[in-house]
Amino acid sequence: MKAANFEHHEPTSVSKAVSLLESLDEPTILSGGQSLVPMLRFRLARPDTVVDINGIDELDYLHEEDGYLRIGALARHADVADSEVIEARYGSFADTAPLVADPQIRNRGTIVGSIAQADPKGDWGSVLIAHDGEVVARGPDGERTVPVDELFLLPYDTSLDEDELITEARVPVPVEREGSAYHKLKRKTGDYAMAGVAARLIFDDDGRIEDAGIGMTAVDITNARASDAEERLEGERPDPELFAEAGELAAEQSNPESDEHGDASYKERMVEVLAQRALGDAAERAGVIERRAAP
Ligand SMILES: Cc1cc2nc3c(=O)[nH]c(=O)nc-3n(C[C@H](O)[C@H](O)[C@H](O)COP(=O)(O)OP(=O)(O)OC[C@H]3O[C@@H](n4cnc5c(N)ncnc54)[C@H](O)[C@@H]3O)c2cc1C
Repeated sequence: MKAANFEHHEPTSVSKAVSLLESLDEPTILSGGQSLVPMLRFRLARPDTVVDINGIDELDYLHEEDGYLRIGALARHADVADSEVIEARYGSFADTAPLVADPQIRNRGTIVGSIAQADPKGDWGSVLIAHDGEVVARGPDGERTVPVDELFLLPYDTSLDEDELITEARVPVPVEREGSAYHKLKRKTGDYAMAGVAARLIFDDDGRIEDAGIGMTAVDITNARASDAEERLEGERPDPELFAEAGELAAEQSNPESDEHGDASYKERMVEVLAQRALGDAAERAGVIERRAAP
């Protein structure tokens, strides 16, 4: 099926885009189009006006600045996969990018579009949760920062207003003795996650876990934080029993649904295993434990 007719606007600056979003009736933002275009074609979305942000060069960046890794709204999944900064310092991002969809989708789809889509099966929301990330949104009243814990409300629904444009997603630059990882279970290459877990660990001088972040994919109505597991980890020294216990707590806090690919108890078990693996990799990348066999 072809998309229904709509007016197409192509602003070349953020300020022009924000003015358009304010003046138009129920506008829809188009970035990579990898979620929106299929929805238009199936007529699951029938906007009268589309504001295409692909011509706004100022949104095309991925770099560290002022204590944050800043991901502009036009940074594509492939940009993360190709970035030397990511490869060197952001294990969870480096793990995630090649696991998103397929190469065609990774070349066009954006990290910010994925977060705005708020699909509980989206991978980036969990990574943002693990890193205590936030998004920067511009609207008619100016700019505001929304922490990821206040962003996802329901499947495909965020706390942003319709006339707000996310200009950037960002996470704090890693400190010393910090490591992160993402593990995802999918049926085959190119699929969305059946379950996924992102973990980030920061250790103190004494080798204890000072701060833990764990985000879960596809096992609740939004990307979700495994806060009980985080609390259990903090103040402790890393070891396989501790990570196994944290995995169990993450599984208990998850809320997956049974579907044709697996029942809820199987997915909970997968959360347990993926969390242990992600925590083990995060600790290893932080340099506090030796290489070990995966559970
Ligand atoms: C077959 C297939 C497999 C996929 N597999 C995966 C997967 O394994 N993991 C995964 O994470 N994703 C997956 N995706 C989704 C993919 O990652 C998309 O790229 C992503 O969800 C949307 O990014 P986009 O830039 O294409 O956004 P678009 O499709 O352009 O927009 C998506 C939504 O976000 C809104 N939006 C976009 N940009 C902004 C902005 N800057 N500010 C405010 N709102 C905005 C749009 O209005 C729209 O509602 C898959 C998609 C397909 C079609």
